[in-house]
Amino acid sequence: MKTQNKNIEDYFTSSKPGSGLDLSKEEIKKSFLEKLFYGLGRIPTVATDNDYYSALALAVRDWVFRQYVRSLEEYAEQDSRGVAYLSAEYLPGPHLGNNLLNLSITKTTREALADLDLDLDKILEQEVEPGLGNGGLGRLASCYLDSMATLGVPSIGYGIRYEFGIFNQTLKDGWQAEVTDKWLHYGNPWEVVRPEIAFEVKFGGYTEHKYDSNNKLQVNWIPDSEIRGTAYDTPILGYRSNGIIMRLWSAEAIESFDFAAYNMGDYYRAVEKKMRSENITKVLYPNDENLSGKELRLKQQYFFVSCSLQDIIRLHLLQGRELENFHEKFNIQLNDTHPSIAVAELMRILVDIHQMEWDEAWHVTRHTFAYTNHTLLPEALEKWSVNLLGRLLPRHLEIIYEINSRFLNELRKQNFSTEQISRMSLIDDRGEPSIRMAHLATVGSHKVNGVSALHSRLLKSMVLQDFAELWPEKFTNVTNGVAHRRFLALSNPGLADLITRKIGKEWLTDLSALRNLEKFADDKSFQEEWRNIKFKNKERLTALIEERTGVKLDPSMLFDIHVKRIHEYKRQHLKVLHILSLYLRLKNGKGKDISPTSFIFGGKAAPGYFMAKRIIKLITAVADLINNDPEVNKKLKVVFLPNFSVKLAQQVYPAADLSEQISMAGKEASGTGNMKFSLNGALTIGTLDGANVEIREEVGEKNFFLFGLTTEEVQETKKAGYHPYRIYEQNNDLREVMDFLISGKLSKGDKELFRPIYDNLLQQDPYLLLKDYQSYIEAMDEVHKTWKDQNEWAKRSILNVINMGKFSSDRSISDYCEDIWKVETVKVV
Ligand SMILES: *Cc1c(COP(=O)(O)O)cnc(C)c1O
Repeated sequence: MKTQNKNIEDYFTSSKPGSGLDLSKEEIKKSFLEKLFYGLGRIPTVATDNDYYSALALAVRDWVFRQYVRSLEEYAEQDSRGVAYLSAEYLPGPHLGNNLLNLSITKTTREALADLDLDLDKILEQEVEPGLGNGGLGRLASCYLDSMATLGVPSIGYGIRYEFGIFNQTLKDGWQAEVTDKWLHYGNPWEVVRPEIAFEVKFGGYTEHKYDSNNKLQVNWIPDSEIRGTAYDTPILGYRSNGIIMRLWSAEAIESFDFAAYNMGDYYRAVEKKMRSENITKVLYPNDENLSGKELRLKQQYFFVSCSLQDIIRLHLLQGRELENFHEKFNIQLNDTHPSIAVAELMRILVDIHQMEWDEAWHVTRHTFAYTNHTLLPEALEKWSVNLLGRLLPRHLEIIYEINSRFLNELRKQNFSTEQISRMSLIDDRGEPSIRMAHLATVGSHKVNGVSALHSRLLKSMVLQDFAELWPEKFTNVTNGVAHRRFLALSNPGLADLITRKIGKEWLTDLSALRNLEKFADDKSFQEEWRNIKFKNKERLTALIEERTGVKLDPSMLFDIHVKRIHEYKRQHLKVLHILSLYLRLKNGKGKDISPTSFIFGGKAAPGYFMAKRIIKLITAVADLINNDPEVNKKLKVVFLPNFSVKLAQQVYPAADLSEQISMAGKEASGTGNMKFSLNGALTIGTLDGANVEIREEVGEKNFFLFGLTTEEVQETKKAGYHPYRIYEQNNDLREVMDFLISGKLSKGDKELFRPIYDNLLQQDPYLLLKDYQSYIEAMDEVHKTWKDQNEWAKRSILNVINMGKFSSDRSISDYCEDIWKVETVKVV
């Protein structure tokens, strides 16, 4: 710890901050009340539940910062190599419960509050989660911060402090309606603003090229606007371990608009300018995939990348180091291509600002970055038009051209063919010229990873094939993982408690220790305890669903759950076809083998995604039909639970019997929902897609309901010319189900409502629902048969959980440390 003040330094070294762990009830009570009285200026007669929540959060934040400060000291002593994780999205979920868990003070806090006649659960309920991400990618980033803190990776997570996060989803007449997310409305006790950690970010304008007195080319970028980014820090605590910072940038105007010299006209113009610049971090784009052409989106990306790089370089220089060694001290991980403009920005900073020679700067840059690819969907691969990028970032466009011309020359020297060279170019000049951001990230990184074994293999054989041939050693895999403390210890306390009673606490920091439960898999009384816990979780979810939707489920039914973003490739509508097939079987008196089932759906659709929104309407229409039909509603219930979020996810995964992972093979890069379900004892019905493949390997074929085409079969089917209509003609049950969609019975006689879905499936069916239909139905029949043997089901559920060791994000982060970052971890506890 370096300070300017000897007295503070002496105080700090003589009274090193004690551990924030295992505090006593009295300490907790005292801090909580002090925060309530003196932190918030509240007395009990006027305090609201939100005041109690804020007071507790502020007390907890102190303890988390204590761990953070201790970690900083440790890192400084070890002179460790650090990691900056760049992600345009984070989905942290509620902080309070997780921090209490990681400080190991949940029970003591509950008691301390009870002494004050307060209920911890009610206080936890108050927290509004930061919805700063769309789904899987943002949640992954947050799981990784959790694991980096737990393992003691010297690290910092950079991102954007969106004022409005992902919209809140409500249902209106069965359709999705979007409501603005105001997560900051009641304040945010977890963050600390750092007005002095602020950087200026330029946009627009033009460049000037001049030779200086040494005849060296100097490029000067003269922007037409500048914006300031200010850091907001949220401490993230690991399990009984280190604290790290999630640093989010917020945009504001540089000049204030109250210059006395302004006349009225100028004054208003200045106000408008200020408002416009602050727009940059106003709102998260609610699109699960990349959207092209949105200028504000590119501004967001460059804004947070530029602030983050300036900050990292500041930290590097603060320690008295040279930029020549930058890559030896920092790894920068690019979470997808969203931050990939960083490659050009670091080059600009090194070459234009710090006068480094191009070749040396390029060496530093390529050894600094590593890139994680998250998608194979061609429509999701990020591209920016040369025109737009050049207008917003004229210097970066020049740098990208320079990188490209050197790269393509290299390829020519190595005798690559013209076709290959044009395929690999950073510029796509078919049609409107555009920059291929995945190529920029690949060329500018020393490692490129996919997010599951299958995805990494496909990446090398499809999207980045040419690059993989050029640089085979650059490509690697890091299978995704999930923060098992949040998604098991915190969200499923019943199961966590049973596990700990049997095998101790080791699993909290080493998930593979769950294997020690193997000897109980056949134990009848253990199975019964296991089932009782699941039943209680289902009762809790049932109550929540009744409160939110008015639909009352029966927790003794099979809970068959499909929650994730709504997307055609994820095939929620295949699940609907299955439900309708059961409905028709029951109506035709052929449903005796059906196990009573509650189908639970959840997930947001991108607001402009026509098909996804219609699929939500279809689900709610099927729910209305089935739930209100006394002939079937004893056996089937269907519900769409609105506004799926981390908070809801923590209630949903623990209550699942069956996890739906039914994407068309080759489309889901990894999935992490699949892991969270299995970790909580759900069996999976799924295709050989993403991490499903590895989950099945780990839990055993027998404990996984497999169906559908493989990736290779999908490719062959498409190549051979796919005709969904023929399948429809040949399969009577399927035809009946499909025709039901346009019968009007789902839509008060309106036969057109679901015709777009019907037509899409019969004419194109790009995600091969009809092709996989029969296989899915048969696998589901197998599910219903297995469910009838509750001991067998419990056994398979146990075998799922105990074989989930591989899917902790601790394992993913260890992989990154060993294979990509080459960092040593330093734990403070
Ligand atoms: C895990 C998670 C996801 C990702 O789910 P997939 O099934 O992998 O698509 C999305 N949203 C939330 C809130 C999650 O917790």
